[in-house]
Amino acid sequence: MTSLSGGSDNGTRAGEPPQHRVCARCGTETDSIPPTWTCSVENGTRRYFCDRCSRENLRAIESRLDSSWW
Ligand SMILES: [Zn+2]
Repeated sequence: MTSLSGGSDNGTRAGEPPQHRVCARCGTETDSIPPTWTCSVENGTRRYFCDRCSRENLRAIESRLDSSWW
């Protein structure tokens, strides 16, 4: 058995190679998602943001949450 360090829900699903990801905002590519990257699910589609964009994206997410709370 293999035990992945860190992530729990980031397991591999059949038919979908989890290796290559591209930042949905700036286009930065990565072969393996660092823990600093953020995965955001929008309309059933997974979007990945690099550590830089994640910080800015967090503000947007928080803003969205605030607006939907009101
Ligand atoms: Zn980015």
